[in-house]
Amino acid sequence: MAGSLEGRRAVVTGASSGIGEATVAALAREGAAVAVGARRRDRLEALAERVDGTVQVHEVDITDEAAARRFIDESAQTLGGLDILVNNAGVMLLGPVAGAEVEHWQRMINVNLLGLLYCTHATLPIMGQGGGGHIVNVASVAGRHATLGSAVYNMTKFGVVAFSEALRQEVLHANVRVTCVEPGFVDTELQGHNEHPMVVEAIEKMRKDLGDDVLKADDIADAIVYALTRPPHVAVNEVLVRPTKQSR
Ligand code: NDP
Repeated sequence: MAGSLEGRRAVVTGASSGIGEATVAALAREGAAVAVGARRRDRLEALAERVDGTVQVHEVDITDEAAARRFIDESAQTLGGLDILVNNAGVMLLGPVAGAEVEHWQRMINVNLLGLLYCTHATLPIMGQGGGGHIVNVASVAGRHATLGSAVYNMTKFGVVAFSEALRQEVLHANVRVTCVEPGFVDTELQGHNEHPMVVEAIEKMRKDLGDDVLKADDIADAIVYALTRPPHVAVNEVLVRPTKQSR
């Protein structure tokens, strides 16, 4: 039976783990051909091997503008066009502002904001020529609610939410839909990059409090597929998904 995304061509950034990886599997299940990008090629190749369908692997660091553009252009060329961009790649390095590693801020701003912008900028003319498309930006609950210890991550994710709304208004007449997905706590590698003791403790506590009720990457992939498979006149512009027991 044909999937609901049969014939659609998609790019997913940050597909080597977590939400990106689950999204690729979900898109392929629905029949989309997918080009995947991240820095860890081995993980992308393992994913392509595992998934039944077209999955093209691109080793790319999206903070490099030329490399991000090449990734999008080559993907569109080999897939024969581009209907869907999932801007998912992100990093989260939390801690107080005072005494923070400035390099952590640079990394978050470069990946979560500039990387997303570079991929979007390269995609828009391609979708314009193709008569439309759908851009999904993965922000966060942290793009809706700021919390102590999360200032710069909040800043990047508030930025993604704001950018998504402004972009929506800009591209709606070009038949491009924009969806901003805002997950709560999802069990992925994301939290594991943190080293600050206060942060590690807070994450451990939250994980313990949520127990088995933490979100899985597949839950977010489901939300993305839901947005992508609405009829053309329906734009799901924002989806905030928390674990039921997450308080903030
Ligand atoms: P993961 O750490 O599992 O995945 C992050 C992905 O981003 C990896 O595939 C990584 O690939 C990629 N990435 C990081 N830096 C770069 C780069 N410079 N160039 C290309 N790819 C890069 O985390 P999640 O799946 O949880 O995160 C996915 C998105 O969801 C992020 O935007 C995150 O902020 C957001 N999110 C996650 C939540 C959670 O609780 N997990 C909650 C809310 C939002 P590689 O290292 O191979 O390059």
